Amino acid sequence: MSREHVLVTGAGIAGLGAALALGDTRRVTLVDRDRAAPLDDAEDAFLHWERRGATQLRHSHVFLGRLTTLLATRYPALLKELTDCGARIFTFQDGLPPPLRDSYTPRPGDEDLSILFSRRTTLELVMRRTVKRLPNVTILDEAGVRGVLIEGGAVKGLKVERGGVVEDLQADLTVDASGRNTAFPDWLRAAGIKVGEEESPAGILYFTRHYRLRDGAEEPTRDGTPGAGDLGYIKFGVFPADNRHFSITLAIPEIETELRMAVVKPEVFDRVCAEIPGCARWTDAARAEPASQVFAMGNLKSVWRSYSPMPANFFALGDAAVRTNPLYGRGCSAGIVHAHILREVLDATGDPAARAETFAADTRKALRPFYDSMVRQDTLAIRRAANERDPHYQPSWRARAIKSLVEDAIGPATRGDIAVLRAFSRAFHMIDDPNDWWKRPDMVARLIGFWGLPEKYKRARGFYPPKFGPERAEMISKLKLA
Ligand SMILES: Cc1cc2nc3c(=O)[nH]c(=O)nc-3n(C[C@H](O)[C@H](O)[C@H](O)COP(=O)(O)OP(=O)(O)OC[C@H]3O[C@@H](n4cnc5c(N)ncnc54)[C@H](O)[C@@H]3O)c2cc1C
Repeated sequence: MSREHVLVTGAGIAGLGAALALGDTRRVTLVDRDRAAPLDDAEDAFLHWERRGATQLRHSHVFLGRLTTLLATRYPALLKELTDCGARIFTFQDGLPPPLRDSYTPRPGDEDLSILFSRRTTLELVMRRTVKRLPNVTILDEAGVRGVLIEGGAVKGLKVERGGVVEDLQADLTVDASGRNTAFPDWLRAAGIKVGEEESPAGILYFTRHYRLRDGAEEPTRDGTPGAGDLGYIKFGVFPADNRHFSITLAIPEIETELRMAVVKPEVFDRVCAEIPGCARWTDAARAEPASQVFAMGNLKSVWRSYSPMPANFFALGDAAVRTNPLYGRGCSAGIVHAHILREVLDATGDPAARAETFAADTRKALRPFYDSMVRQDTLAIRRAANERDPHYQPSWRARAIKSLVEDAIGPATRGDIAVLRAFSRAFHMIDDPNDWWKRPDMVARLIGFWGLPEKYKRARGFYPPKFGPERAEMISKLKLA
């Protein structure tokens, strides 16, 4: 047991991840401005847990293989408690497209590609429960961090306000896990530290509505109708969750002003869902009933922060350090992985300068490839959304070739070739580098092979997904929007 006391701002996913990662070897205090959940119950947390510090709490969340595997290997009791609470594990085999189901043979590594189906409130509730049981961890709820104590380039603790009284809390190590709206960069800048912020727009707004399966109703069978897709003017996703809940998110480009202003109305949201086959089969009134209003969220962007020089004994984790477009579902996995990187760095050396340097380098190595790949995809999606609105748009040959590569090679190959699906999924789930899989010679050969197959042959074998939904003009007309 180290004698170090770690003071963490934020008891969200990264803060709780830090408590899990460090709590067996260090004394950890989590400080969060919000209240704890009123009752220790998943349904009550979903309905009543007020989290002004984490306003994304009631948006759809998917938890990728990287996070699920980390929980399964390091915290099996936590994962068991989650599933006892109604969360579900959706395996690689469960998600296989129809053409691959009958010939599937499990391979080592497939177990890393399981998704955790859970409302975000349920996951946080159970993580919190586990963390509260750790003897070395304390959670200070309703305690707002108001500033940072800094002396000679080293962070010494925090200014914390509780019940109207501000006090200085000293610590050996200070962690910023205060999420997307962290105030630490401003506080540290004021102390003369340079904070670098690279930003890139996500280009979308998020609209989420929750539903509950009616008594006796079952989830739709997985017949190959995609539960997620991109229509260019709307991206959609169905997020199965715990206890017969599921949610649907419609991500609408910022430039689609009329559409995004309309879709916040529950009746319009449901009408849009009814036009998209992958959503309609879930929201069908005979199968499910709405369980919430439509939640909207904007100001979505990617941000990469770096500190120069990194103040001694200070570490930023999760969204406070690296924020990404929620569409990729990677933020929570990244936050927990980041907390475990911190644990390894702290265990490796006690030297503050070496810790700062290694933490920055290891963060970059683990998370930067994903960040860069998402930013690149966002740039393309923003361009595509603008083109959707332009009736005179004529794609260049390059744009046509990229579209064809995605739609006629990568798409069909991930539905028709298990090796390609595995490689793609390992990148999707943050296990392998997202930029490498499709450059491997064996993958290039397979993708070119699929590209060259006649369309008719690919269609006959179910390698193309059914159409995601109507074209933009048709949807706009059906919704009677300008
Ligand atoms: C709309 C949306 C949908 C998303 N969907 C997914 C998804 O499907 N899958 C996924 O993995 N990720 C998703 N994400 C990303 C994910 O929510 C974040 O990456 C994750 O919550 C980051 O964890 P965190 O602990 O860094 O921050 P948060 O979880 O936001 O926690 C920050 C905590 O800090 C506290 N805090 C803030 N300031 C202070 C202060 N001054 N004093 C005390 N406490 C403070 C807050 O109360 C809060 O509890 C989504 C994000 C958004 C916006």
